[in-house]
Amino acid sequence: MTGKLVIGNWKMNTRADSARKLAAALLADAETNRDGVGIAAPAVYLAALGEQLQGSSIALSSQDVSRYAEDGAFTGEASAAMLADVGCRYALVGHSERRQYFGEDNAALLQKMRNAAAAGLIPVLCVGETLAQREAGSYKEVVAAQLAVLAELDAADCVIAYEPVWAIGTGKVATIEQIAEIHAFIKNWCLQNAAGSDKIRVLYGGSVKAENAEAILATKNVDGALVGGASLDADSFRVICQAAGKLI
Ligand code: PEP
Repeated sequence: MTGKLVIGNWKMNTRADSARKLAAALLADAETNRDGVGIAAPAVYLAALGEQLQGSSIALSSQDVSRYAEDGAFTGEASAAMLADVGCRYALVGHSERRQYFGEDNAALLQKMRNAAAAGLIPVLCVGETLAQREAGSYKEVVAAQLAVLAELDAADCVIAYEPVWAIGTGKVATIEQIAEIHAFIKNWCLQNAAGSDKIRVLYGGSVKAENAEAILATKNVDGALVGGASLDADSFRVICQAAGKLI
């Protein structure tokens, strides 16, 4: 796939009915070109959405993937093979909410990345610093430490989402200069440290909305967006997709 990638992260929102309606709204516009648009839905709705989106160019993504690859006694887990089985193309890995609330560290995330790739999923590694780390000036070191998992695998089929924690769900957006600086840093870090990463896509996430999407998506080294809150509103998400050149 070439061009920008926009993934809506529904997080722990929707119900079976509202998820179906939201997906239907995205599918509704017949004059669209959705290649490069994805939705990361709650795990329990993935199978139904996989059927609903089948044959469309809207890609399905999980919000997480198990660190365990093989079937077995891992209560509550969904393996990469299961996610692929119900139609997922992408798997978010290491979203800041997973790091914060579920203590996910690089060792676990590397296993998740490997499992996703082995099952044919494209892992989307989420990285980003907290406000304290941004203010302390250590954000590049923090992001580099999170990117380190990419040095342990073939990064050719991975996607990165840079999401400053202080901009997620807060309405605060990084400035264009801040985004440009860190995206250039990430691309450069990858070139130097991660085999196969020369064409790696780096998405921006953090309060991307209809109003700011165009400027963010036009920024150098921004290859798309990971959109939380605004992806729950079909009209807002449509405008963001338009800004990414995804709709005709
Ligand atoms: C996210 O959850 O990945 C995200 C970027 O959320 P929001 O757009 O709501 O800040």
